[in-house]
Amino acid sequence: MATGIGKVGWSPGARPVLTEAAELPAMLASQARARQRLDLFGVFIDRADRAAAISQIRRFVEMGTPHQVVTVNLDFLYLAERDPAFCLTINEADLAVPDGMPLLWLSHLLGSPLSSRITGVDLVHESCRMAAELGVGVFFLGGAFDIASLAAERAQDRYPGLRVNWYSPPFGPISPAEDERIVEMIVRARPDFLFVALGAPRQDLWIREHRERLGVPVAMGVGCTLDLLAGTVRRAPTWMQSLGLEWSYRLICEPRRLWRRYLRDDLPLLWRLSLMALDRQQTRTQAANETVEEGLA
Ligand code: UDP
Repeated sequence: MATGIGKVGWSPGARPVLTEAAELPAMLASQARARQRLDLFGVFIDRADRAAAISQIRRFVEMGTPHQVVTVNLDFLYLAERDPAFCLTINEADLAVPDGMPLLWLSHLLGSPLSSRITGVDLVHESCRMAAELGVGVFFLGGAFDIASLAAERAQDRYPGLRVNWYSPPFGPISPAEDERIVEMIVRARPDFLFVALGAPRQDLWIREHRERLGVPVAMGVGCTLDLLAGTVRRAPTWMQSLGLEWSYRLICEPRRLWRRYLRDDLPLLWRLSLMALDRQQTRTQAANETVEEGLA
């Protein structure tokens, strides 16, 4: 397994959740209001459409201070319910976008719809476009060695002038010494964008743990996006994406890796959360009706 840095074109507290907002610390709840976020069973999602998310990312670059972006899908809700640190990572990220149709469906069932799905892969493309335009660097961390190098090459072909550094650590747990080496490597490269593909929740927890030392204006966990950039994994056809069936396409492509995630973990969760959302809606409607009746009496 390769471990060298590849230089391409640039040498240089809450109880876990899925409960009600009232059970979360008041501070986080008020932050959610200030930023206009949807409280999706204790996981906060920004109410930004694609254009607003991209503008926000540009603002992060202009500010130059460290920011974390998370792309939340249904599996994130599953993981957040079991891991308070991951839940906090999402809720304390500077931007949390809904990267999955099930999140939109749940927001509709709650009577508080999110406007659109914003995918991690789309944000990576937009960020690379922005980086090339601004003349700042991007760093790819993670993925298999050949995938990361191919992803970097493809990104440079697509966005001329883009400066990319990448590093592919060995798969599995990262030792503290290796961790330190990676942080130093990124600090030396001084990118404005860091895309971490180490699998969720690890990639997002890793960013949170190191974000201040890394000092990268935009750091984002990106899952299989490097594989998509490299062209070794294909996205589902657009009609499947718009019907919220991308997961079934991915399941057919990688059944051994993904069946547990989608069939055992995420589908039952979607069913449970849908029932909870409907129940909340019903309670609200009942309360509203009672208020009207009281008013008329
Ligand atoms: N990955 C990695 N090191 C690991 C585990 C995973 O680099 O120890 C990479 C893997 O090569 C792939 C990505 O993480 O590119 C997959 O992450 P995840 O399963 O979160 O992606 P998703 O399927 O959710 O998009």
